[in-house]
Amino acid sequence: MTEQVLTVRCKLSPTDSQAEEMEDTLKAFADACNWINQNTPANLRNKVRIQGIVYQDVRAKFGLSANLAIRAINRVASNRKTGWAFYQLKEFLSYKALTAGVPLVLVDPAYSSQTCHQCGEHGIRNGKSFKCPVCGWSGDADFNGAKNIAFLGRYVDRPGGSEGLPSIKAVLSGLLKAPIFRPE
Ligand SMILES: [Zn+2]
Repeated sequence: MTEQVLTVRCKLSPTDSQAEEMEDTLKAFADACNWINQNTPANLRNKVRIQGIVYQDVRAKFGLSANLAIRAINRVASNRKTGWAFYQLKEFLSYKALTAGVPLVLVDPAYSSQTCHQCGEHGIRNGKSFKCPVCGWSGDADFNGAKNIAFLGRYVDRPGGSEGLPSIKAVLSGLLKAPIFRPE
């Protein structure tokens, strides 16, 4: 007897009530993370110790399942190692993207700021300005980075993925390794 494995790809199209429910859960999760962050010593990064302090309260206050409560605690612990402001922005975008059914692409800033958006070659960033030694484009470094990110966004969710990218693909192959969070 052979076992058949089927892979199904589908686009998330939640009904209004499902979207609302997801948004509520994600909101509770985000609120719980903020609350845990505010109610435990800021330099405490050990998740087991954080859990010991807030686990019961998190479950009671935010109505999270045991699994989600633990995940919120772990999230806080790991984000104390990487930076909270960035985490909050990412979290906000994640749940907006999830409820809207669109993928969220995280782009490594190193790629977007060192790549020329005109020709895709490696350029030179000097403070606020960017200069491409290959095509000669020069201008605002943030503008250049934003153009690269917008370019990636237009291609990443096409059927067929990055296939058919124009010549700029050499550099964007780096960008395209960026993790994409798709709602499951
Ligand atoms: Zn260039």
